[in-house]
Amino acid sequence: MRPFEYIRAATIQDAVRAKAASPDAKFLGGGTNLVDLMKYGVEQPGQLIDVTRLPLAAVEPLPGGGVRIGALVRNSDLALHPLIVKAYPVLSEALLAGASPQLRNMATTAGNLMQRTRCYYFYDSAFPCNKREPGSGCSAIGGQNRIHAILGQSASCIATHPSDMAVAMAALDAVVKIQGPDGTRSIPIVDFHRLPGNTPQLDTNLQPDELIVAVDIPPAQVASRSRYLKVRDRASYAFALVSVAAAIDVQNGRIRDSRIALGGVAHKPWRALEAERAVAGQPLSAATLRKAADVAMSGAKGYEHNQFKIELAKRTILRAFSELSDA
Ligand code: SF4
Repeated sequence: MRPFEYIRAATIQDAVRAKAASPDAKFLGGGTNLVDLMKYGVEQPGQLIDVTRLPLAAVEPLPGGGVRIGALVRNSDLALHPLIVKAYPVLSEALLAGASPQLRNMATTAGNLMQRTRCYYFYDSAFPCNKREPGSGCSAIGGQNRIHAILGQSASCIATHPSDMAVAMAALDAVVKIQGPDGTRSIPIVDFHRLPGNTPQLDTNLQPDELIVAVDIPPAQVASRSRYLKVRDRASYAFALVSVAAAIDVQNGRIRDSRIALGGVAHKPWRALEAERAVAGQPLSAATLRKAADVAMSGAKGYEHNQFKIELAKRTILRAFSELSDA
């Protein structure tokens, strides 16, 4: 591991100033992904800016409804927070589906958003990888690609984003609140993570000198009837092959509002807006839900080892909604 300097930020402004002054610095939260990446030599920061003492660990109701989640709220605390369990069950379930209890106790909300792909080749410097070393090639396209993307991929990279939490937040129209050297700004979470295009080294639209300070989730009636369904190779401590964050609001037998977001299928949490539009106002029936699944996967493209994900994603959407319909 490359030697690095460790500093602890006393204020948000100090943290942002320190990052702006040191281009090869990284913010350190729970460290559950960053430290692994440093051990593999994938991340080689010259400085770690510890932000864990900043006052960003609260979950608070917003004045007009909704909730503000501090960037340093631990995943386990967020999953079990009464505001989240009651109003946004899909988010609680997604958090509890991620990692292990020990990791959830350490991992922060902002760190969860910033975690990097688990593509095997990204972690192994013996293989070319455009995300780790731009221009070197993508080993997954002609290699082992069982866990890789089926939507939104490019000729440069077919990696998936590993977060469960971010998939639920995409379904909930969350907004990421950011502090930079010149002030604050907000990014809707669906625009926070990027598709790979020809710059797969960039996972997000966060600028190098910006710090995530919170995530806001607006009020949404549809969220009270929501769930997160994750399909993986073993029952715990495994990343999603496919996951679905689903929510539905039915009135007089017809779908008034719905939310569909998918994980394990793309370089970012994948919100299936066209599928939501296709079923709006339709009767809640097996045929309508099949239509949603077909529309959600209409642009999907598989590779040698992950073709199965297309059908699996459709079935996971159907299963998530049928469980909500039975609830
Ligand atoms: Fe690297 Fe992306 Fe290809 Fe994986 S899929 S080897 S992360 S370029």
